[in-house]
Amino acid sequence: MSRRRQIYEGKAKILYEGPEPGTLIQYFKDDATAFNAQKKGTINGKGVLNNRISEHIFTLLGQIGVPHHFIRRLNMREQLIRQVEIIPVEVVVRNVAAGTLSKRLGIEEGEQLPRTIIEYFYKDDALGDPMITDEHIAAFGWASQDEMHDIADMAIRVNDFMCGLFAAVGIRLVDFKLEFGRIWDNDYSRVILADEISPDGCRLWDMKSNEKLDKDRFRRDLGGEMEAYQEVARRLGLMPEGEGHAVLDMDAHRKKRGR
Ligand code: 5GP
Repeated sequence: MSRRRQIYEGKAKILYEGPEPGTLIQYFKDDATAFNAQKKGTINGKGVLNNRISEHIFTLLGQIGVPHHFIRRLNMREQLIRQVEIIPVEVVVRNVAAGTLSKRLGIEEGEQLPRTIIEYFYKDDALGDPMITDEHIAAFGWASQDEMHDIADMAIRVNDFMCGLFAAVGIRLVDFKLEFGRIWDNDYSRVILADEISPDGCRLWDMKSNEKLDKDRFRRDLGGEMEAYQEVARRLGLMPEGEGHAVLDMDAHRKKRGR
């Protein structure tokens, strides 16, 4: 048997060649990094939960007409996706002040923003993902004006939908990061939502207690990150109720048994 070909390994995911041309397999790792990989660790079961949470959100977004790369989940840690040409721009949508916005502008974390703000960051680890504007994106040709128009449009639709989805289960969607990719049909291309949507790239606060249910628990050494991710999955109806909240992860199970 030949080993499948690895296309890319990122901080939290691995991409393998898919079964058909134009497809890839996205594998979710338990590895967690923060502050441009200066802080490294693992969150047990994170990959399994993110795979499931991302599947859920992408499926719902597809149902409201947001085009995306997700095809189907294959197993606990893998999903089949469409291969895209990743646009090297991280799109951050903010509803509430937090993180780098609070630091940059001196606005207290938790302050509701007067309107939703979209920010762009250049996807480049060596540079630490610097903040950029439409001007840089146009000048350096990272995306066209039309593509940026579609991206901003989709980001707002995703935000509106996700604010409602999380509010319904008592979670405030503070901010999140999206990535987009280009797919080609002969000479024409269009932009679709790519990557993942999970507590790794969202700030999710419990509406009553303001407790953080996302990767900030890891970034800020708060502990309980696995429980927080499980709580998000549970509230979205993705965890079996009343089974001690065990994440059945055969990979981890086999490793534990030394196989
Ligand atoms: P900030 O700019 O405040 O650090 O992040 C804003 C939002 O985007 C947060 O929800 C954060 O999780 C997400 N985000 C920004 N950059 C990255 C990144 O490189 N990786 C991940 N997973 N999330 C990011």
